Amino acid sequence: MERKILVIEDEQNINDILSFQLSKDGYKTISAFDGVSGLEMALTQNPDLILLDVMLPGLDGYEVCKKIREQSNVPIIMLTAREDEVDKVLGLELGADDYMTKPYSNRELTARIKANLRRSAIEPVPVAAVEDDVNSIIISGDLTINTERYEVLKDNHVIDITLREFELLKFLAMQPDKIFSREKLLENVWGYEYYGDVRTVDVTVRRLREKIEDDPSMPKYIITKRGVGYYFNK
Ligand code: CA
Repeated sequence: MERKILVIEDEQNINDILSFQLSKDGYKTISAFDGVSGLEMALTQNPDLILLDVMLPGLDGYEVCKKIREQSNVPIIMLTAREDEVDKVLGLELGADDYMTKPYSNRELTARIKANLRRSAIEPVPVAAVEDDVNSIIISGDLTINTERYEVLKDNHVIDITLREFELLKFLAMQPDKIFSREKLLENVWGYEYYGDVRTVDVTVRRLREKIEDDPSMPKYIITKRGVGYYFNK
């Protein structure tokens, strides 16, 4: 199946190069050159993934990302020009899945896109189609993680969680008390060993804690082992 990628980037030559590279890799591409039309295409053209530049005329990349997230879980990789934009890009309020700092290599681009498309290919199974299987349910305190339904309940209420957050929680919870380094988590949950930035893990843990912990600053479930990594406390 041909996957469709939306490139939102105002610089014509960068947009052209990205689109050319992507079509060489076998993707169908569509392009937008400003935030407003990018947002509109994101919501009407059903892309499988979006490359979104931060600096755009009119509506900037941050606003576009936020607005897309209000309506869609499509994977979004943000393109940033500066390292110091990274924290904001991955921040809780935006909801981007990943980022790349310019300049990036074609190899890196290809790896990131593949990893993010793979994540999104795991569609949540419709509720009616699943027979509850005891083995697919992890219960800890007030948390219930249903690994077949891709569903997390806290206090019997379904939590709004992204696939990446879910995968991280599931990975940790399936091996409680085992400490994983950030690199190990990147490798296992994100699926790319060399291109990821360990901050991606920290930010996703932070987002997850906001959702599952009573007090994110005093986490009960996902615990930081200082200098080593994270573990799930069952
Ligand atoms: Ca730009």
